[in-house]
Amino acid sequence: MAQNLFGQIDPPQRLLMGPGPVNAHPRVLRAMAADMLGQFDPEMTAYMNETMELYRQVFMTENRWTFLVDGTARAGIEAALVSLVEPGAKLLIVRAGRFGLLLSEIAQRIGAEICTLDLPWGEVATLEQIENALIEHKPQVFACIHGDTSTTMAQPLAGVGELCRKYGVISYADATATLGGMAVETDAWGIDVVSGGLQKCMGGPPGSAPITISDRAAEHIMARKHVEAGIRGADALDGNRPRIVSNYFDLAMVMDYWSEKRLNHHTEATTMLYGAREAARIMLEEGLEPRFARHTAASTAMVAGARALDLNVFGNDSYRMTNVTGIWIPEGVHGENVRMRMRDDFGIEIGTAFGPLAGKIWRIGAMGYNAVKHKVLLTLAALEVCLAAEGHKAQRGAGVDAALAEYS
Ligand SMILES: *Cc1c(COP(=O)(O)O)cnc(C)c1O
Repeated sequence: MAQNLFGQIDPPQRLLMGPGPVNAHPRVLRAMAADMLGQFDPEMTAYMNETMELYRQVFMTENRWTFLVDGTARAGIEAALVSLVEPGAKLLIVRAGRFGLLLSEIAQRIGAEICTLDLPWGEVATLEQIENALIEHKPQVFACIHGDTSTTMAQPLAGVGELCRKYGVISYADATATLGGMAVETDAWGIDVVSGGLQKCMGGPPGSAPITISDRAAEHIMARKHVEAGIRGADALDGNRPRIVSNYFDLAMVMDYWSEKRLNHHTEATTMLYGAREAARIMLEEGLEPRFARHTAASTAMVAGARALDLNVFGNDSYRMTNVTGIWIPEGVHGENVRMRMRDDFGIEIGTAFGPLAGKIWRIGAMGYNAVKHKVLLTLAALEVCLAAEGHKAQRGAGVDAALAEYS
């Protein structure tokens, strides 16, 4: 009987210079080819503990509760919000881009009372604005995005956790796009819960969401644990706080699984754990500071190159993320044609944009394994050719020269 087995998976080689996913480090992919282990095998639980220890360093924290949520970055965001925010509780969200909107969409489903600090896309909140909003709304939980790839801006977080503590508010930050590329100083900032992903600056594939939780946030979450008849028995408290509405994303149960109790919840995604562990090892081997400097160098060169090609860079220089750059599509140039030429002629992917920035900017990333000189130079060289083909006038070679000058 004829059967269509389609082709073997053999994707074209692309250089992914968009806002993520980006090319995974080959060592991460090799780690993911390792054989399965049973979830309670001591070798496996040792890998889990090692992963916790590695991610404490990645998140720059001492938090005992630092582990992986299985799923893409959004799984980490949803797990954090659904576990922290009770139905009817007040949540303050900073919204200055697509991912801030995602936070309120999730909170709506929880049935939280949502208050927002809304800013035009491309702006960041000041400490004063945040403090005023905390005073005005008196929320239980505060949530924001560290680096919002939709706008390429990084919200400064120094002092934010401390402010929240001053008003008795639990704080959450989504650091998916910055983790591994910019400093995510969980403890120094005093942010209670921070989550990330692998497919941006961590240099892994999408599918695992590292998360870190302070003791006081963990206590708040654990107080929402309810007895699950027959399965969890004496270990579960019969909480009188509203139960966490998701089973899969119930961080109280997930923490029990990552604790010495090893209370079964889901099956840890073995292969993703191998990948996440290797991604963290690579980062720590390189060193946090050198790694952040490598991203800064790539972004500085990308910005200089773009400006030398007579392009305008989006947003305020002081708040720009150092791993993705927004570039205004010049008058008269068809943005999608340029992206198509980049892909068809050079095998390079750059990003489009969403919402109010759709059709107005491109987003060019240099993240993780791709935040290196030769990939920045190749991207600029290709961009110059594609821009010229679409009628943009700029001095030939100027972009690469300017980027090279930044590197030397
Ligand atoms: C890319 C990104 C995500 C992505 O979530 P996924 O579920 O992995 O697609 C979330 N938050 C921010 C800020 C991002 O930049």
